[in-house]
Amino acid sequence: MTEGYIKFNCNWMLKQFPFQEEVYEELEAARVKLRNLGLIGMYPDGIGFGNISVRSSGGKSFIITGSATGHFEKLGQIHYALVTGYDFEKNSIFCTGLTKASAESLTHAAIYESLPEVGAVVHVHCFWLWERLLNNCPTTSAEIEYGTPEMAYAVGELASGINGKIIVMGGHREGILAFGSNLIEATTEIINIYNRYKND
Ligand SMILES: [Zn+2]
Repeated sequence: MTEGYIKFNCNWMLKQFPFQEEVYEELEAARVKLRNLGLIGMYPDGIGFGNISVRSSGGKSFIITGSATGHFEKLGQIHYALVTGYDFEKNSIFCTGLTKASAESLTHAAIYESLPEVGAVVHVHCFWLWERLLNNCPTTSAEIEYGTPEMAYAVGELASGINGKIIVMGGHREGILAFGSNLIEATTEIINIYNRYKND
């Protein structure tokens, strides 16, 4: 464990939140596309990867795929959580739902916080693409680990200073982030770059 490591803290209220059918369907459509490319899924050891979120009605809150849902082909509304608050310094989030929010919620929060115009964030895993994009796209320092307040700060800072909509997580092997004004835009960003490099 790294020195100064602060454990991720999830303050979870076990209760279904109001979830618009339309928003749920948008999330599912985006997730299916990413999952079909293997950008969201599960490793052979049973650990899930990849998560997507959408900002909730212009506020600070957002709806995100639940923790440990990567192996499901399709998700029900019960597999999503609403993040209602967060504290980067304490590495903690507040969420409501029948599933806990993803442990990577703070990274999503950092982008929403930095860029008010962003409406959706997708976080995918893909080793070969990560290797190709590493230090070619804006990349967080290799020393900053996944799930730390430092990662959230680094992502937030990078997001506010770049023209593109892709961030590579240098210290989170395979981890790539894409964002956009809505889910279609965020998903298209990552799929376009995936297709561009796929046949190289
Ligand atoms: Zn990840």
